[in-house]
Amino acid sequence: MKAVRFFGNKDVRVVNDLEKPSPKGDEVLLKIGGAGVCHSDLHIIDEGIVSGVTFTLGHENAGWIEEIGEDVKGFKKGDAVLVYGPWGCGHCKPCQHSNENYCDHQSEMAFGGGLGLNGGMADYMLVPSSRLLVHIHDLDPVIAAPLTDAALTPYSAIKRSLPKLMPDEYVVVIGVGGLGHVALQILSEMCGSTIIACDITPERLEFAKKLGAAYAINSTDKDAAEQIKKITGIKKAKVVLDFVGASSTIDLGTKVIGLDGDLTIVGLGGGKYEYNMNGLPFGVSMTNPYWGSRTELMEVIGLAIQKKIHIEIEKYNLDQAVEVYDKLRHGQIKGRAVLIP
Ligand code: NAD
Ligand code: ZN
Ligand code: ZN
Repeated sequence: MKAVRFFGNKDVRVVNDLEKPSPKGDEVLLKIGGAGVCHSDLHIIDEGIVSGVTFTLGHENAGWIEEIGEDVKGFKKGDAVLVYGPWGCGHCKPCQHSNENYCDHQSEMAFGGGLGLNGGMADYMLVPSSRLLVHIHDLDPVIAAPLTDAALTPYSAIKRSLPKLMPDEYVVVIGVGGLGHVALQILSEMCGSTIIACDITPERLEFAKKLGAAYAINSTDKDAAEQIKKITGIKKAKVVLDFVGASSTIDLGTKVIGLDGDLTIVGLGGGKYEYNMNGLPFGVSMTNPYWGSRTELMEVIGLAIQKKIHIEIEKYNLDQAVEVYDKLRHGQIKGRAVLIP
């Protein structure tokens, strides 16, 4: 079968000779409908955050069940499903709570399919347990694939701050790409706060306004923080969601977060922050959430089925993977690219 393989050292190639796996026990073989192209893949490819292993890329996967192992219950051939991405041990307390993204054993395991183990940029993908699949009913797997990360990650980050996102408050979203453009829609649906979006190009700022941002600020403007504070007034923002995570965006977040606010850094942009007692207003929680839980993924599917969120998709085939990564690297993908076998 065909697959997009990562060989380490920035080497990504499409191969045609990978053996089609066969499921045993609770394993499930999926015929891939779509595999989303996440910016985290670039951190893996370019910065080597997962090293020493060769594997198939793609951690945002959806498709149809092709074959099930003899112990699988609740799924049958042809069912349309999403693959929950952060694979935990399945047994520890966080995993029992469905928070496999915070599995006690994360430090001793690969992160999941496409993140050290074989992922979904291929004709077929072997999922190690039916526990990791979620039915998507009549959603199209091509459209649905990015829900498992580009929607789940911002959903989970927003949900933890929901009690603070009241209609008289302000929320700042930094980075209106794959994750950020879904975050704007989730915020519009789930809270009444005024949304201020930041990105670096006029097109992305225009895009943000279409998705529910009341204001859109270019974060490369020297006075970006002043522009935001002019909108919020003295209270500043109650929540900042940073989908870039570079030093410059973390710096912007610290300048605009208000007392008792949540400064949530989702982006893995390698930014640095030096704690300083006077650097943040009192009561601020700074956090670096990772993905979301399995039950939150079910909630995200609920939003998609009700058409309350819509992922802006660009479709490509597996042979175009290297070209698509290059486009993503240069900010040329609007919304999410999805590879379709
Ligand atoms: P993307 O490339 O689709 O979008 C990034 C967006 O940020 C683009 O619109 C870009 O123009 C904008 N941007 C870049 N520099 C900026 C700046 N200085 N100020 C404002 N905007 C800026 O990326 P994505 O797939 O949405 O991923 C975003 C980040 O989130 C990546 O670092 C990715 O690795 C990370 N991520 C983290 C998790 C997690 O669980 N923590 C999950 C998925 C992705
Ligand atoms: Zn991702
Ligand atoms: Zn666990």
